[in-house]
Amino acid sequence: MKNILLIEDDPFLVNIYTTKLKESGFSTDAANDGETGLKKLKEKEFDLLILDIVLPHIDGWEILKEIRKEDGLKDLKVIILSNLGRKEEVEKGLGLGAVKYFIKAHYTPSEIVEEIKKII
Ligand SMILES: [Mg+2]
Repeated sequence: MKNILLIEDDPFLVNIYTTKLKESGFSTDAANDGETGLKKLKEKEFDLLILDIVLPHIDGWEILKEIRKEDGLKDLKVIILSNLGRKEEVEKGLGLGAVKYFIKAHYTPSEIVEEIKKII
């Protein structure tokens, strides 16, 4: 079973994505701030990270930078799911190694899950 970590501080989104991903046969874990998220990434192996950018303590940009520094995490696939939708932000996310950048308002959770199935 593919294992997905969701780093997202909006409990409503965590809930809906956890439900949708489980319905699609994925195993999931969630962290609601950047610090907890990084800790989970170092403790356990994941096939994909769904990463929010605006987060308490450590934001998504810092998490992406940390991931690229850690030997064990370099190959982790990351998709960004954020409200930040300026061109520079999308470019920054992809430049830091995210495989996809989704703007929250443009996709339903079901559409995102379909995209995830194509990635892992
Ligand atoms: Mg957020």
